[in-house]
Amino acid sequence: MSDGKTKRLRIAVQKKGRLNSTSMALFEKVGIKVQLSKSGLYCHAIDAPVDFLFVRDDDIPTLVNDGFCDMGVIGQNVLEEFCLSLDEENQANNIMIDKALGFGHCRLSIAMPNCKSYEGVSSLKGMKIATSYPALLSQFSQKNKLNLSILNISGSVEIAPNVGMADAICDLVSTGRTLEENNLKEVVQIMESQAVFIRNKHALPSSLEHFYTCLIDRINGVLQAKESKYVMFHAPKSSLDAISELLPGHEGQTIIPLSGVDDKVAVHIVTTEGVFWNTLELLKSAGASAILVLPIEKMLP
Ligand code: ATP
Ligand code: ZN
Repeated sequence: MSDGKTKRLRIAVQKKGRLNSTSMALFEKVGIKVQLSKSGLYCHAIDAPVDFLFVRDDDIPTLVNDGFCDMGVIGQNVLEEFCLSLDEENQANNIMIDKALGFGHCRLSIAMPNCKSYEGVSSLKGMKIATSYPALLSQFSQKNKLNLSILNISGSVEIAPNVGMADAICDLVSTGRTLEENNLKEVVQIMESQAVFIRNKHALPSSLEHFYTCLIDRINGVLQAKESKYVMFHAPKSSLDAISELLPGHEGQTIIPLSGVDDKVAVHIVTTEGVFWNTLELLKSAGASAILVLPIEKMLP
């Protein structure tokens, strides 16, 4: 765990790759400003008791599990694979998921060449499948009694069927473009994933525990604000109820009189769900006018 003398949280973040910039942007939004070291391997936060360690994403679960880092940001795919391998080796799992972070969305799927026919999971029986996620694939194989032969490779998995190394692949997919470029079709989804904030489940020193609780509250605030919108409009008093029902997920509204106008009021509502063009059109047809939709930067309940 963090060294008791310095009492700083140590957070592991991917050094380069898909999760790096979004993770650091989130920390900046919760008020943690950083100063990069020359090596780029670690940095100290300027005004918070936090140090970041920049590493390959595959190393993050080990660092957190073994207590070298208190927390980390990692894809659920990497985390699940790690947890399954801990189980296989009968090792202690000290990791807790604290928060799904709403970015890094992808799915772990099996894909096979377009030219091969697929008629359900049993079509995969006995196949040789290349993957960087052998434990997750093996679990899937056992659950579905597929007796797969698993070829564990660490990168460029998608070329394996083209060069005859495997019949199919099991890899991460987001848009599906890489699969298309390699003449592969996605046939079964094994898991869905997004980035999560993990921590070592052993207690932190009490001063850090308090800071950590604030950090999680702030992260919640940022994530909730991302979903929420501040909506303002003018509305006839007679149709207020009907109009506000069109905005889902709000906990109340602020009604403000309009000077010199008796039959209309200004309404301010914070809605926690997306506000789409068709919602605005419905508001307008229900009598609302001067409609403004504003993004929210931070929220605390
Ligand atoms: P590292 O050098 O840190 O090992 P990497 O090549 O394993 O990097 P990235 O490709 O940067 O990792 O992906 C990091 C994480 O981003 C993945 O583990 C996954 O959770 C998420 N991710 C989201 N979309 C995709 C995608 N299309 N392909 C791969 N990963 C994705
Ligand atoms: Zn990796």
